[in-house]
Amino acid sequence: MFGKKKKAVDRRLYVANPNVWKVKVKDDWNKENCYHKNEGEDFFHGLVKGEIYFDSGSEKVCMNCAVKQNLLTENRLHWQKKSGDFVEEISYEEAENLESSSDE
Ligand SMILES: [Zn+2]
Repeated sequence: MFGKKKKAVDRRLYVANPNVWKVKVKDDWNKENCYHKNEGEDFFHGLVKGEIYFDSGSEKVCMNCAVKQNLLTENRLHWQKKSGDFVEEISYEEAENLESSSDE
C-alpha cells in the first residue's frame, strides 16, 4: 500500500545564457517567425499566440530550435560548465574588469 511511490517528473529548465536570451510568451497574433530554419526546410517556424519562445532582442527562436541551439538545458548545474555558449562562473573582480573594458 505504501510501497509504491511515484517519482515526480523534473520539469525545471534553465536558460544557458540568461544575459543574452530572455524567455517570452507571445501574446498577440502579429506575424513573427523563428530566426532559424531546419536543414531542408524552406519555411519559417511561425510563432503563434501563447507560444513560449526565446528573444535576444534581435532574434526570436522557437522552443525546438532553442533546444537544438543549446539555449535551454535541463542541467541545473549548467553554469559550472566552462565551454561553448555556457556562462562562465567568474569572480567579482573579473566581472568588474569585463564591465570597465566594454565601456570603450
Ligand atoms: Zn524554430
